[in-house]
Amino acid sequence: MAWRMLRRKDFHTGLVNLAFRKDHGVKKHFSSGTIGNLAQVYHGDRPKRSASCMPSNHFTIRNFHAGVYMLAWSRKREDVVGLKAPKKEKRVKKENRTQPPVEAPYIAPKPKTSIKSLPDKTVEIFDGMTLLDLSKRTGAYISTLQGILADLGEKVESEFDSISIDLAELVSMELGVNTRRMHTGEGTNEPRPAVVTVMGHVDHGKTSLLDALRQTSVAAKEAGGITQHIGAFVVEMPSGASITFLDTPGHAAFSAMRARGAAVTDIVVLVVAADDGVMPQTLEAMSHAKASNVPIVVAINKCDKSGADPERVRIQLGSEGLLLEDMGGDVQVVEISAVAKSGLDKLEEALLLQAEMMDLKARIDGPAQAFVVEARVDRGRGPLATAIVKYGTLVSGQHIVVGAEWGRIRSLRDTAGNITQSAKPAMPIEIEGLRGLPMAGDDVVVVDSEERARMLSHGRKKQQEKDRLRKIDEGMAEELEIKEETPERVEMPIIVKADVQGSVQAVTDALRSLNSAQVFVNVVHVGVGPISEHDIDLAQACGAYIVGFNIRSPPSTITQAAARANIKVLLHKVIYHLLEEMGRAIVEKAPGTAETQVSGEAEVLNIFELKGRSKSKGSDIKIAGCRITDGHFSKSGTMRLLRSGDVVFEGPCASLKREKQDAETIEKGNDCGLVIQDCDDFQVGDIIQCLEQVIRKPKFISTQSGSVRIEC
Ligand code: GDP
Repeated sequence: MAWRMLRRKDFHTGLVNLAFRKDHGVKKHFSSGTIGNLAQVYHGDRPKRSASCMPSNHFTIRNFHAGVYMLAWSRKREDVVGLKAPKKEKRVKKENRTQPPVEAPYIAPKPKTSIKSLPDKTVEIFDGMTLLDLSKRTGAYISTLQGILADLGEKVESEFDSISIDLAELVSMELGVNTRRMHTGEGTNEPRPAVVTVMGHVDHGKTSLLDALRQTSVAAKEAGGITQHIGAFVVEMPSGASITFLDTPGHAAFSAMRARGAAVTDIVVLVVAADDGVMPQTLEAMSHAKASNVPIVVAINKCDKSGADPERVRIQLGSEGLLLEDMGGDVQVVEISAVAKSGLDKLEEALLLQAEMMDLKARIDGPAQAFVVEARVDRGRGPLATAIVKYGTLVSGQHIVVGAEWGRIRSLRDTAGNITQSAKPAMPIEIEGLRGLPMAGDDVVVVDSEERARMLSHGRKKQQEKDRLRKIDEGMAEELEIKEETPERVEMPIIVKADVQGSVQAVTDALRSLNSAQVFVNVVHVGVGPISEHDIDLAQACGAYIVGFNIRSPPSTITQAAARANIKVLLHKVIYHLLEEMGRAIVEKAPGTAETQVSGEAEVLNIFELKGRSKSKGSDIKIAGCRITDGHFSKSGTMRLLRSGDVVFEGPCASLKREKQDAETIEKGNDCGLVIQDCDDFQVGDIIQCLEQVIRKPKFISTQSGSVRIEC
């Protein structure tokens, strides 16, 4: 017989994969299958034979799932993959099949869709869709859908009967098809506040601006200036209008949320330091906002500083294609100082104006859809998620599914920490009552019952696991991909031990939130109970840190063994302290990024010429007699010559002298003689900047709410 079967055990799923090979290696893999499916696959064009005819010693079936792969195979792959509703093929006489009508237009054969690509398929689902809609979108037969629904305890007889969005998701999951929930805009649409994200280059003052704005927030006013950090806050204007600010500055949070479909931001505040101007991350923020079609309001910060030059920032932004209002465009620019708290009211007004122009509205009534902006575990209150409602009204007591987690809303708190019964669009709210810790960007959906919540959460978790295994199977696990993209990324292996399984999960999730572009937090092993010798051996083998949460101190034999092997053991009872210590260790380990920084500025007061040099030593040399007005000058630095704000020359330092003595560095307030290689174009009044290469380490950022992250 030309057919041969192979057997492979998949250790991740526990299923048996079967491979069928016809002489020269035509090979297919399956995750699971039924005997019926198997018979069809095995016999292909010989359907009359049954599975029982096969030699029994050729294979073993350990599991019995009717998976999408088998459905696809048994019903012709194209039918399952395509968007068209499957139709019964007309019976055609055999001889006609090979002879298409002469006048029939030529239709190029469709490329065959591979079974592998099935799980990538995403269909849009919505509340009240009919079974026929779902069949068209998923490509599955009505009878198949009815079968799955029956298994879920739902009887849907007609293809024109509508089903709930939750059922549509459950059925799609069973088919292995990803879903995107579409929410109806029907209902009363009312104006809603704008949701604003602050972005910009590192150290340009994003955090300081948010701190300053937070102090003008509703919560601060209510609590006498003391604010709770829950990932977002609301600022109320004298007119009664309000603005919601997301409390996590930076691009990573913004793009991660967008990537997960959580488009909550309406306006981006682009912070640019007036003394530093447009920098790489300023441009990056501009591209993020542009790609997401989110309008920008520019906040030129640090205007209180002596070196502030807001005009230069305007020109730079204009030349980068940002159409500023003063230049005839529509991007508003406000000059502020986050430290001196000046211009904040103007910024808020500009944001209100922008929001007004956008005419932001949302459906108020009906079930809510919200997005998580921050999540943390509180030791007393359990997992807490701060979410922003996008549509509808979220009501305390409702059952919800958040990403792959679920729960019943035990309490809702507003940004001032007050318990509230409901939350309307653009309102940040802290949700208590979840069973697990969701992730930023996860969607919050309201479901009818606890049972439905459990089912959806279970299905989503299974789907996530399937996706993860598929990626590993295809040799392209996300982590590996990131590693390849950023070869300079270093790894921080960690072993987690905790008192109970819940803590293990919470600590692992929290540690993973410290992942960054420079350091990959790799939790290599987790376990419940005290630190054992095995943990020490493993840590030694892979150079891991051991993190113990809420466990008793290990015996001296273990501590000594760890010390001998130079293994760092961190024991904590407060998750926040643990993260703080790990955050510092991660920052230390990060390779950092090389950046050019202006280390000092000097003014040219005089020009000296060194004449009469021999030909062999080269031509005359011009020396700039300068006074260092800011920072310091180093001989190893690059010198940049500026005239009326424009760069006229840039080159290495050929000589740096103080009182005729060569100097390596000279500090602010001193005079010096400076020669720039190949430059003889000094003029009195010119400004010279000294540029130095510095290694900038990532920043460990923690908020009082306990959320942490590493910003590169
Ligand atoms: P981020 O990295 O963009 O979040 O920047 P930070 O808010 O951490 O600010 C970086 C540094 O700039 C801090 O030392 C702040 O004190 C300082 N800074 C921020 N805003 C201002 C400002 O308006 N004026 C002055 N003089 N310094 C500021």
